Order: sequence, then structure tokens, then C-alpha cells
Amino acid sequence: SPLPLKDPSLLKSQCYVNGEWIGSGTDPVINPATGQTIGHVPRFGAREAAEAVEHADKAFKLWSKTTAKERSNILRRWFDLIIANTDDLGLIMTAEQGKPLFESKGEVGYAASFVEFYAEEARRIYGEMIPTHRNDARILVHKQPIGVCAAITPWNFPAAMITRKCAPAIAVGCATVIKPAPETPLTALALAELAHRAGIPAGVFNVITGDAAPIGKVWCEHPTVRFIGFTGSTPVGKLLMQQAASTVKRVGLELGGNAPFIVFDDADIDAAVEGAMLSKYRNMGQTCVCANRIFVQDEVHDEFVAKFTAKVRELKVGNGLDAGVTQGPLIKPAAVDKVESHVQDALAKGAKLETGGHRHALGHTFFEPTVLSGMTSDMIVTREETFGPLAPVYRFKTEQEAIDLANASQYGLASYFYGRDIGRIFRVAEALEYGMVGINTGLIGVDVAPFGGVKESGLGREGSHHGTEEFLEIKYMLLAGL
Ligand code: ADP
Repeated sequence: SPLPLKDPSLLKSQCYVNGEWIGSGTDPVINPATGQTIGHVPRFGAREAAEAVEHADKAFKLWSKTTAKERSNILRRWFDLIIANTDDLGLIMTAEQGKPLFESKGEVGYAASFVEFYAEEARRIYGEMIPTHRNDARILVHKQPIGVCAAITPWNFPAAMITRKCAPAIAVGCATVIKPAPETPLTALALAELAHRAGIPAGVFNVITGDAAPIGKVWCEHPTVRFIGFTGSTPVGKLLMQQAASTVKRVGLELGGNAPFIVFDDADIDAAVEGAMLSKYRNMGQTCVCANRIFVQDEVHDEFVAKFTAKVRELKVGNGLDAGVTQGPLIKPAAVDKVESHVQDALAKGAKLETGGHRHALGHTFFEPTVLSGMTSDMIVTREETFGPLAPVYRFKTEQEAIDLANASQYGLASYFYGRDIGRIFRVAEALEYGMVGINTGLIGVDVAPFGGVKESGLGREGSHHGTEEFLEIKYMLLAGL
């Protein structure tokens, strides 16, 4: 049955290049909650990837000459259209991705917030005049858009990962080529339709679908592409970085995480439970900032586990389009296999099952929201991101032990802790080797703050005024002979 969209023309089966809809839908897009095909998209490859870059380059030459105010106004129209079409975008997103409808609509708002923020930020790209070393000269620093920017995005945030990359790029005068994840191309193509309606000129925002590896290779190695932005798995990120070395491209990477979530003995336990629910079970546990290891101090451990497990039992699993559902399906069968293997490994090594632990009776890719306690560091989930609805709880005694456990990872994206002692708050926040620290909160992503990781979690920051830096080159002019 077709999706009940108010505006069915948002559901696309072609790609958007140079302001035109091209290709024909061959590859199915599957609803993970039902297994049904909800649409088809083209299978493009190396040739179309290169053509999109040529179009973007032509567009860049014009777009980079527009005024900041012109770019700002067009982005603002795109923002308005995204917000106005929240219901339809939410439906498309839930149908292809699985997250509950309220979360999809929430993501549409989050995605739109980057367009709004960078529409404003477009007009605040300032240069500098540096005190000079000689009296007859002046040192000027000018910021210019870097050029054509490519983005390869994941399925867990089908809208926001696109706008968080493209809105700052477009705001400062760059043109963009995007390849969304094969699981969630329909949201990306709907955003392209709205970009078109907003008046973003032909070639400035292009979306192609198809074979990831050849498209990625062409974009990494194409001399005209000056930036490659990627959100996804660490192995693919490393591959793209290697390929981008061939043309000394700037790269922005948002890769895997292994977020610690620490609860100290002076924490507000009810607030910590609420934060852990949000951090762990949002998007069925499929975000790179999801709590992956929950460390709870000895004295409050049992109280936390009891209250947390009770809340987890209240989660309602089902089709994200149905009212009241808080947990949809996982994205694909392999994701379920991974959660199941992490659970079984932990149980085999002595963990205690507090709730869940199995594939859900609904079948497909549904999995029961799961809590394990008695976790130890030899278990796989200690090292690997589960990316699913499994909350493993570890008991610790001292502050230093918590910090050491939290930092024992090659990842460094998001971290969280709950506590009230102000001295400890600063000590722990500064000691955590993570790009982001949520203190007494389980939600950190917001347009005005710099999102990004350290260690193998990535390079660069998205969001906030720092988010435009990736898309700007600094030009130093020495004006002598005055
Ligand atoms: P996941 O395993 O969660 O799907 P991936 O890192 O494989 O994570 O996917 C994130 C994005 O990277 C998707 O758009 C996917 O198509 C793309 N991708 C996967 N492999 C490659 C590759 N070899 N080169 C470029 N992009 C890739």
C-alpha cells in the first residue's frame, strides 16, 4: 500500500543532478518493519559520480560569487519547506528506516535546524587584518569556499547527516554531491525536491544513489572535489581517508563510537535512568552516540539497575508507523545478528540477563530491548559498538576506575556521566578522552554545538560556528608597497 503522503510528489524514484531528475528506479528500498518494497532508486556508478562533479563544479563557479545574503535567503526557504513538509518527510523516513514516527519527525526538525543555523551563519564568515611586520604592508586574511564537496551518509539519520554536512557547505558558497545510504535514499531525494523548490540553483545540491564503492572512489580521487565528508563505519572511513590522500583532499569523518555512560553515587538516579533510556534506546540503539557501556558506582548500582530495567520493560516494540510504538525494527538482518552475538557472548562469560535478550516475537528485524548486568571487560560489547537495543551494565568502585574504564577504547565520540559534585564534574569531564561529554544529560546533539570525535571516531566537527571551517580555505594576502 502506498504511503499516505499529503504530497506524493516527494516520493522519488530518480536521482537529482544539475537541477534535473535523471535515471530510473531499479534498486528496491525496503521497509524494515514489514519487508515490503516502498520504492526504487537508480543504480548509478563511477560515470554518473564523475558527471555530478562536473555539474557541481560549474555551479560552484557561480554560487561562490553570490552574496552571503542571497545564499542565506535561499537556505532559509529550504528550511521553511522542510518544516512545512515534516509530516511527509517523517512518514518516508519511518517507512525506509524503521524509527518511530515521533522520532522521524524529531529528526526532520533536527535536520532543518542545521539549514536554519547555517542560513544565519552564512553572513558571519569574517576575515582578519593581522598586525603587520612592516610599515609599508598589510596582512589580510580572507576566507573562501573550498570548492566541490562530496558527502557519503549513513542510514541511521537519513536527513540530518545530509543537512549537517551540506547546509554549512552551501552557506559558504560550495556546491555539493551526495550519496545517501542504500537503505534510506528516499528521504535524501525528498530533501532534494525541497531544495529545488527553495531555489537552490542547479548543480549546487546533487544526490545520486547506487554502488557505494565506485562512487566513493571517484569522489575521493577526483581533483575537482576538495572535501569529502563521511558519516559511517570506521573501516569505510579509513578507506575513504586513504583514497582521499591521492589528491590531498580535506576529509571530515564521523565514525564509530563506544560511548561510556557513567553514574556516580551522588547522581540523581531517576534522572540518570531517564538519560540512559534516551541515550541507549533512541533509534533502537542505532546511533553513534548511543550509550554502549553503562558504568554504575557500587552504592547505587542495584537501585539503578532495578529502575532502569523497569523502564526498559515499558518500551513498546512494533512498526514505527503505529501509535504508541517506541522501538521499531533494526535496519537489517545483519544488525540483529550482531546484537544477538553480543548478548550470547556476554551471557556465556557470566553476565546476568535482566530483561529481553532475544529476537522479538514480531519477527523481521525486531529485537527485544535488553539489559545485562555483571558485565566484565573480556566481553565483546566492551570493545565493540553494538548498534542495537542492548544495555550492558558494569559495576565500578572509584572515580579513577570509571575514568580508566571509559577511556579504554580506540573510540572517542560521545561520553556521558551523572553526578552532582562540582569538583568531580570538572575532573571527570576533562579526563574523558572524548570529543563530547554530556553531564547530567543523555542527549547532546544540537545545531549550535560542535559535534565530533577524537581518536578513531573521526576528524573535524559538524554543527556550530566551527562547522563552516571545514568548507573554507584561508587565503593570506600580503599587501606591500603602500
Ligand atoms: P553500515 O555498515 O552501518 O551501513 P557503512 O559505513 O557501510 O555503514 O555505510 C555508510 C555509508 O558508506 C553508506 O552510504 C554506504 O553506502 C557507504 N559505503 C559503504 N562502503 C563504501 C565504500 N567502499 N566507499 C564509499 N562509500 C561506502
